[in-house]
Amino acid sequence: MKKNQKNRFVRLYTILLILILALNIFIPMFHSNRMENTSYSNFLTQVEKKKVKEVQVDGNDDIIYYTLKNDDKKKTYQTGEMNDSQLVDRLKKADVTFTQTIHQSSILDNPFIYFLISFLLPLFFISWLMRRTMKKFQDKMGGDSTFTFTPGGNDAGNGFGGFGGFGNLGKSNAKVYEGKKTGITFKDVAGQQEAKDNLVEIVDFLNNPKKYTEIGATMPKGALLVGPPGTGKTLLAKAVAGEAGVPFFSISGSEFVEMFVGRGAAKVRDLFKQAREKAPCIVFIDEIDTIGKRRDGAGSMGGNDEREQTLNQLLAEMDGFDGSKGVVLLAATNRPEILDPALTRPGRFDRRIPVELPDLAGREAILKLHAKKIKHSPDIDFNVVARAAAGSSGADLANIINEGALLAIRDGRKQVVQKDLEEAIEIVIAGEQKKGAVISPKEKLIVAYHEIGHALVAAKSKNTAPVHKITIIPRTKGALGYTMQVEEDEQNLLSRDELYAKIVTYTAGRAAEEIIFNSYTSGASNDIEQATKLARAMITRFGMSPTFGMTALETVNNQYLGGDTSLACSPETAARVDQEVITLIQQAHDEAVQILKDNLAKLHELAKYLYEKETITGEQFMYILHKPAEISTSGAQ
Ligand code: ADP
Ligand code: MG
Ligand code: ZN
Repeated sequence: MKKNQKNRFVRLYTILLILILALNIFIPMFHSNRMENTSYSNFLTQVEKKKVKEVQVDGNDDIIYYTLKNDDKKKTYQTGEMNDSQLVDRLKKADVTFTQTIHQSSILDNPFIYFLISFLLPLFFISWLMRRTMKKFQDKMGGDSTFTFTPGGNDAGNGFGGFGGFGNLGKSNAKVYEGKKTGITFKDVAGQQEAKDNLVEIVDFLNNPKKYTEIGATMPKGALLVGPPGTGKTLLAKAVAGEAGVPFFSISGSEFVEMFVGRGAAKVRDLFKQAREKAPCIVFIDEIDTIGKRRDGAGSMGGNDEREQTLNQLLAEMDGFDGSKGVVLLAATNRPEILDPALTRPGRFDRRIPVELPDLAGREAILKLHAKKIKHSPDIDFNVVARAAAGSSGADLANIINEGALLAIRDGRKQVVQKDLEEAIEIVIAGEQKKGAVISPKEKLIVAYHEIGHALVAAKSKNTAPVHKITIIPRTKGALGYTMQVEEDEQNLLSRDELYAKIVTYTAGRAAEEIIFNSYTSGASNDIEQATKLARAMITRFGMSPTFGMTALETVNNQYLGGDTSLACSPETAARVDQEVITLIQQAHDEAVQILKDNLAKLHELAKYLYEKETITGEQFMYILHKPAEISTSGAQ
């Protein structure tokens, strides 16, 4: 490989040499094309015949350059050296414009310097350009200043053929974080205790392999971090490297796809070769689903060939080393269900480490961890913020803290307060407040009734979370208003009654619109979607339908990403499921209508209050709800 590279360099150099020589020959030729030598006497005749248009005298060597009148070729003539004292008189007589130039003897006249500039300089420039391009490529692959590229590796087809300077590109793509250089430890990961416990064992094994080998225990070869996006999988892997103090090779599956088209298998081989040389070490393949997708049984249809080769190479490499050598494989994915089963069978990624969305305590811990990076008021109740941000991932929470800080700056405050964080949750969930959005009073009133409909039904039915905040300030993500409910505690199991109460609450916004305005708007579209999803899940997956009982009628395709489902029943059954979903939602809707009709006075009072205030808190809501009714309540305007 080394030799190959040198050859390429020689070839490149030769091409350059020829190019420069050619330029040196052609440029003067091109010049002399328009320049013609003549004798001095010839020049004098032309002057006397008044044919000369312009004269330029080179003061240094008394060479005369001149052009002729009526010369369509616009040639410049050049005489030999001649010291003519009468020249000026002659020219004046012939009425010729003339100038004298005295050119400082140029440094370019020095052949050595000329050589330097015309020959070596371009060479330096080109080599600089090459190095820079290479660095760009490396940065693109790495992005972290701590990586180093280790030479060596195989030479399976250097696809970038040609330039020697690119040689390294084919070699190694994995970033090598030496030791603690990721700068991230388990302290930087809040919550996720289960995942950390699992990983601590791996770290311990890398630090004291003897402890394990003495008993005869072998480490699992690979551990797969699975969980929704933004839960800290990548962060955890980096923390492992930081804790273990061993080299950390990290590569993302998408890099295989984007950067190494046609070379995936070679990359994998190279990655493992490096890892074996550096053992004990950690190899981390992020987003492994991009290369580890299930292979289709029926011979591939061309396009997937490459990915399959990459995957096969990965499988072969995993079989090829034994865990006692101290190479630990980590991988992360949020689509474990699409991985090829061969990847997850024993002896490969046989340990699965779930990295789930954080629970209440986890959310609080993550908020507090990220809040350390900002200036904030000491009396922020992070528990309240954590409860309001139910369902958020670690990345969302980090984002909430940052948005909160931005809000504080916008308000000209020096520190972040509770209010900023609560507003930040809304920004992250619902988008920013749409300043200056034009909403007609009529629309605003509809939205107020709609939201109070949700809140009132939630408050009046058992099994629902308390109302935390209601707002009818439009948001950039499209919501015209929303009602925020915050659970008292984290709930992992939901009973049928609780789920049903949720559906009733979803339908209550539209129910209020119907009762008060006897009209339907498009504002309920999201409610409808949510209600339908939930009702379907109750029937097809949670076994809560009296007709179907505990039959799985749908399977979830991607539990961590959106969770779309596919039917697992006959079309006839599917039709009956649809019917049952419709009935369930209708029933919930009727119940919502009933609750609202029973509390019509409060509905009016609360909606009017919200219409005026635009945002009300849960306490304000509860206060009005529970205070004795006013003597008279007018109907809707
Ligand atoms: P994933 O790889 O699971 O999609 P990342 O590891 O890239 O998620 O996390 C994205 C960001 O979210 C991290 O850089 C960090 O700022 C934040 N984050 C996620 N989970 C946690 C956690 N448990 N503790 C602290 N920060 C977290
Ligand atoms: Mg990640
Ligand atoms: Zn609604």
